[in-house]
Amino acid sequence: MKRSPSTRAPALVVRLFTAAVLVLTSPALLSPVPLHAQSLPNLGDADGEELSPLMERKLGEQIMQNIRRDRDYISDPTVMDFLNNFGGILLAANPEARADTGYDFLFFAVRDPSLNAFALPGGFIGMHTGLVIAAQSESELASVLAHEIGHVSQRHIARMVGNQKQDALLPLAGILIGLLAARSSPDLAGAAMMSGTGLARQRQLGFNRDAEREADRVGLQILRSAGFEAGGMVNFFGRLQKASRNSNDSAPAYLRTHPMTTERIADIEARIRKEPYRQHADSLDFLLIKSRMRVLQDDKPQGWRDNAVYFNEQLKQGTRSATMAARYGLAMLALRQRDIATADSLLKAMLAEADQKPVLPVTPIIVTLAIELRLAANQPDIALKSVQLARMQFPLSRAVAMLYADCLMASGKKEEATLFLRDQTQLYRQDTSLYIALARAYAEQGKMALQHMTLAEYYTLAGSLPTALEQLRIARASTDASYYDQAIIDARERELQASWKDMLKQKGR
Ligand SMILES: [Zn+2]
Repeated sequence: MKRSPSTRAPALVVRLFTAAVLVLTSPALLSPVPLHAQSLPNLGDADGEELSPLMERKLGEQIMQNIRRDRDYISDPTVMDFLNNFGGILLAANPEARADTGYDFLFFAVRDPSLNAFALPGGFIGMHTGLVIAAQSESELASVLAHEIGHVSQRHIARMVGNQKQDALLPLAGILIGLLAARSSPDLAGAAMMSGTGLARQRQLGFNRDAEREADRVGLQILRSAGFEAGGMVNFFGRLQKASRNSNDSAPAYLRTHPMTTERIADIEARIRKEPYRQHADSLDFLLIKSRMRVLQDDKPQGWRDNAVYFNEQLKQGTRSATMAARYGLAMLALRQRDIATADSLLKAMLAEADQKPVLPVTPIIVTLAIELRLAANQPDIALKSVQLARMQFPLSRAVAMLYADCLMASGKKEEATLFLRDQTQLYRQDTSLYIALARAYAEQGKMALQHMTLAEYYTLAGSLPTALEQLRIARASTDASYYDQAIIDARERELQASWKDMLKQKGR
């Protein structure tokens, strides 16, 4: 990788960041794929110079490769659809939030009950499932996301990186992954593997007061112009602070990375005091997705039992949308236990409720559950018909698209499924789950060469080039590799070998 041109920007007058030293990591971050976190892009000269937007994005993408391999990364397309539509509303109302970066933001969730959200370099914004579940309104959730967008648009990470010395940059991916790893049981061996540098102690980056205030200011602006209640910010941050006072052990993770002060909250309150109060009506989807994340957060038999108790309690609340969300959660649990009859009757009750006046929208979250149920009931033809309708109704839903491929496979239309998935990989090149689905589809048709060529692309995306090269070798040796396949394999092998050499060179620097 080339060095970014040295522009020698003047050193920032204010040193914006402090980095708290914490021993934080998680065995859960270890993955079955070999890690190459040490192969970071060259970050350019670091004499007080800001990281260029391009380099920042590259760094973010490399960190995301590690995160996507994390068992706790939630690749669920329904959750991804919701978060990115939701984040998209905030960004659409504030095109200037992209500043000079031009990033395509990506919002994602990590399975973790603690309250945390974080911005990675390059516009990748992550949040713990616990944070979404704890948000009591869309405005509260929006206030946290808007604050994180504020950190990105003010280029806080880039400025911080620019203030570090070059030798401090290499473990940065490890450090930032430490943000994700704010969990209770440290595993030092795991930490050493994660950073790839034998670095056992991970520093968790924390923003200082000036950066926080700036992110609050920008976040508030974003929140307002997107039509959310500015009070959501005061409510949520205030609740976080209270929670930290009441708990004996430690502050919520969010407060460690975003120090919260009474002064900060007073600051926000002062800003919104003169504003007319506005009310934002929450969508049904917000409650449904909270139920879904609650199930995904603790997706084991004990978690199912605990959540069943929770949802049954929620049913007694009586508000229409709360009842819908509770039934949705219970239906998900029934589906996991292959109790189709119960799931069916819950879905039926939901649809009947939605039909009552005033009519509630039946969105892809409910539609995909209905189709999954038909698949689970071994009725692939009905499932396929429904998903074809759903595709016309919700052409942008990634969850519906993924389900469409499943339905094609289940109804024996494997050729059609592979063609569809191949088109999808062209449209969404970063979506690793598409490559897995495509490789599986090839495998089911006995197309060995194509299966392993697809897996090679998957491992390339996942940042594991040696494994990708190994897959290409298997593909070449497959008896069904055509002359045409061989040519593609050769070309791809040369490309990957070149990038691998490049990475090794960087590592040895
Ligand atoms: Zn912050």
